[in-house]
Amino acid sequence: MLQYPNLEQALKYHFGYDRFRPGQRQIIEDALQNRDLLVVMPTGGGKSLCFQLPALLKKGLTVVVSPLIALMQDQVEGLRNNNISATFLNSSLNAYKVRSREEAILNGRVKLLYVAPERLLSERFLPFLDLVHHQVGISSFAIDEAHCVSEWGHDFRPEYRQLKSLRKRYTNIPTIALTATATDRVRGDIIQQLGLKQPSIHITSFNRQNLYYEVRAKTKSAYAELLELIRESEGSVIVYCLTRKKVDELTFKLQNHKIAALPYHAGLNDEERSQNQTRFIRDDVRVIVATIAFGMGINKPDVRLVVHFDIPRNLESYYQESGRAGRDGESSRCSIFFSFGDIKTIEWSIEQKTDPQEQLIAKQQLRQMIDYAEGTDCRRTIQLGYFGERFAGNCGNCDNCRYPKPVEDWTIEAMKFLSCVARCKERFGMLHIIDVLRGAKNQKITLNQHDQLSTYGIGKDRTVDEWRMLGRSLLHQGLLEQTSDGYSVLKLNALSWEVMRRQRTVSVAVPVAQKITWEEGNAKAAEMEILLQKLRSLRKKLADEQSVPPYVVFPDSTLKLMTQVQPKTLTEFGKLSGVGSHKLSQYGEKFLAEIRAYRQEQGVLDPQDNSAFFHGLPSDTEILTFQLHQQGLSVHEIAQKRNIRPTTIIRHLADLIEKNQPVDLNQLVPLERQQKIWQVLEVLGDISLTPIKEQLGDSYTYDEIRLVRGKWRRENRR
Ligand code: ADP
Ligand code: ZN
Repeated sequence: MLQYPNLEQALKYHFGYDRFRPGQRQIIEDALQNRDLLVVMPTGGGKSLCFQLPALLKKGLTVVVSPLIALMQDQVEGLRNNNISATFLNSSLNAYKVRSREEAILNGRVKLLYVAPERLLSERFLPFLDLVHHQVGISSFAIDEAHCVSEWGHDFRPEYRQLKSLRKRYTNIPTIALTATATDRVRGDIIQQLGLKQPSIHITSFNRQNLYYEVRAKTKSAYAELLELIRESEGSVIVYCLTRKKVDELTFKLQNHKIAALPYHAGLNDEERSQNQTRFIRDDVRVIVATIAFGMGINKPDVRLVVHFDIPRNLESYYQESGRAGRDGESSRCSIFFSFGDIKTIEWSIEQKTDPQEQLIAKQQLRQMIDYAEGTDCRRTIQLGYFGERFAGNCGNCDNCRYPKPVEDWTIEAMKFLSCVARCKERFGMLHIIDVLRGAKNQKITLNQHDQLSTYGIGKDRTVDEWRMLGRSLLHQGLLEQTSDGYSVLKLNALSWEVMRRQRTVSVAVPVAQKITWEEGNAKAAEMEILLQKLRSLRKKLADEQSVPPYVVFPDSTLKLMTQVQPKTLTEFGKLSGVGSHKLSQYGEKFLAEIRAYRQEQGVLDPQDNSAFFHGLPSDTEILTFQLHQQGLSVHEIAQKRNIRPTTIIRHLADLIEKNQPVDLNQLVPLERQQKIWQVLEVLGDISLTPIKEQLGDSYTYDEIRLVRGKWRRENRR
């Protein structure tokens, strides 16, 4: 630890990153103090770094317990590409390899060792570990996927239970347990089962800011929309379906439309499955169509789109599955296609369960999933609420926030609909009711003489889809019931009668057409796209030479920075986030050459001035403020903690916003107030704060104006 002036420098040197993600720094500090730790972070939060960096800074070997062979290999490959000596021991190795790795460990040449729990606790391995302990020292145990010790988690593994014996054998070696599972019960279980001693507990927010959430109606055009989504997205895509059959059909269709897609489900043999997975991870194909069996054990950080083409079973699994998008923090998209037909399929499979308790839970979970899909509130608020995390709403990065659905008064229509149900004597399903309302002519109607009813044909002014939307909405608002005997007969309840008696109004959120793109492009962007493609190909080539996934060479974010900054020297190149010391020497020249060639092709002769970019980076003090802000501290708390005046903190935040750092402005200034200030800025332009404040009146503070001006400047800089 003393070797480095500060942790940021160590981070840059070994991993190439400029700053810590929320929570990482504190966890690492605690780890360096040899404390036991429980780390709860969402997928993509950056858990691995929390034990990897301390492993490098401490003396001795860090032993990482990890449940899946694939995960171990991924992590070790990634570490080696940063020139970090890591290795794994598992059943895939022959005796010779095992011996030579053990030797390297005993010679102190390895900093991180990945093992599966069953090996760790075997008769043969423990004496070896004793030897390591004596000869080179064990700096800590890191237990990855620690929820596996808990029966309450979704992935219980009995062998994890025995890890407690490690505590007894090596009493003074600290343990760090890591998981992405959110529930209290599992957390308590982890602490107890692993025998953590007064652990320092770190729970970061489950909010994945970089993910855009949306739900689309699964209409006839769903496949066309899916195709467009895939074509629009820039990187890897996972499409989840409920059944193997659907996976195969969809893969086939996509392949016919010239999309490089492969299937993944339990019906394929092991070899095919692992082959398809590898081709996906290595970017040989862009799309994997899968049942939910896919995902556990893949660490691919650059998935840009996760589509649930069928509705997920519950919110928890949706959070985990959609969470496989954008682990690298780059903006990514999560889409659900939602139809009532699918709900019926799931309901049917729930009915097949024999345990009534299980059935009840499954039904309730499905209900929550439907409410999420149908909800008009901020999707993030609903998801985080499910995990007991409060979120103010208005995230600005979900369909409901971006394109709020207008709520319309449909009381009259509801009265028509419900009275039609009443007149049909509560003996028919939704489609028949709609037929009657729209005055359809068919046998069922004539047979029942429903063309004689007073409600026959009174709903011609609305389409079938509109009536169906109303019907569903009435069901979900509890203003109408439906039998679950498989016939889905509509039934009235007390609330239905209140509506019909005009004692209750009915509002319905009306869907609006959604735009596919969510990032505006421009000519400059299109130009840079060419360079990005070149850099991608180079990355793929270098990755294939070493047979590692491309993201191991450089993450997407670093490639993007290369296209933006277009560095000309190794020094400039080394400053980019994601370029550590080793990667600089290994790849720097190659990427620089590619960039140079591109610039020549484009006829760019005058050296581009990059200094603006480097000036545009936040200063050290701003970064400190930013980190505290990301941990959720208020302006006053930050000021207190840093012993600086609050106005200075505001200045930092405003500048950070201007420098395009993800400061959450909505958390600082309510949206309506932002809009007011914005309007004034549009009129008065970028002048000093006083006249702007005069225009707005006393209820607005300088702080608020300064913050919004930061954003205004950012948007108006070009
Ligand atoms: P988790 O295990 O929590 O799901 P990982 O440890 O796999 O997440 O990290 C997710 C991704 O984020 C990885 O690609 C990792 O390299 C990257 N990452 C981790 N820490 C940082 C950081 N401080 N800055 C930038 N990227 C980071
Ligand atoms: Zn939202």
